[in-house]
Amino acid sequence: MNAREIAGLVHGRPAGQGRYQGKCPAHEDRNPSLSIMEGKGGRVLLKCHAGCGLGDILETLGLKVADINGGEGNRPSRQRIMQIETTYDYRDGTGKLLFQVVRYIPKGFRQRRPDGAGGWIWNLNGVPRVLFHLPEVLASDIVLIAEGEKDALTLQESAKYLAAKDGRSYAATTNPRGAGKWHDEYSQSLKGKLRAYIFSDNDSPGRAHAKNIFDSIAPYVKAIGLVDLPGLKPKGDVSDWLQKHSPEELWQVVQSTPLGKPSRREEPSPPRNGGHADHMQAAVQDERPKVRLPGDNWLVPNRCRAGPIPRR
Ligand SMILES: [Zn+2]
Repeated sequence: MNAREIAGLVHGRPAGQGRYQGKCPAHEDRNPSLSIMEGKGGRVLLKCHAGCGLGDILETLGLKVADINGGEGNRPSRQRIMQIETTYDYRDGTGKLLFQVVRYIPKGFRQRRPDGAGGWIWNLNGVPRVLFHLPEVLASDIVLIAEGEKDALTLQESAKYLAAKDGRSYAATTNPRGAGKWHDEYSQSLKGKLRAYIFSDNDSPGRAHAKNIFDSIAPYVKAIGLVDLPGLKPKGDVSDWLQKHSPEELWQVVQSTPLGKPSRREEPSPPRNGGHADHMQAAVQDERPKVRLPGDNWLVPNRCRAGPIPRR
């Protein structure tokens, strides 16, 4: 992208030859603090006079360093070829719109918040971060946690079937910004839930993300399942899986997912076996009959047993 295009993202104005001035997206900017200049070789120079780092500015704009480093030849700029595919609303518990995640074609994401006058501010400064579909999450008995909004929406469709099956209310959710971006403050929204099921992408960031969520929500949720979708291809996600499987099959998988709580040892031991379930202690059951526990590595031998967690 060139300086003019970057300036367009922050509603900047021309400020001389090859120079623009706009509001910095990375802080609550009342003055136009961001200088945007054409550099050598098509590079764009950005400087926030309030001191924001280049990385923060680029991240808020949904850009990478490569986007402002000047390309070889006349390749079309990212801005010209990016189109909004869809937007995802994030609301507070009362249903008030807090912010949106904007999904682009080709795949990319930015975040914005209402400016109160029908427009948008392209940062989330001062905005509480919340779970996707928070009002529905708060009202539900059981929560399905996906990796990304698209998967959450796919799961929400199937959740209607699950709810009809067992007479409980279900909500599907995710956290903004994808894998690795779960915050403990999200977990408090799950306080008192009967169960939570975590659906991760079939890759190592996805599995690490699932484990983080598990540990973070454990104090709040009565029982948690890490869902293992049978036959899910590498890097696949629950949307891929549901293209080839019915809601009834999802119901069967959810039913057979072991429910657990992390052990309450004083010092957590490092993960073993490379799995994300190896720190789990006994399966904790809620009102449902005991489930079968598949797999040899699900419970750690000599450390876990089926049944209630013993008191210490
Ligand atoms: Zn700034």
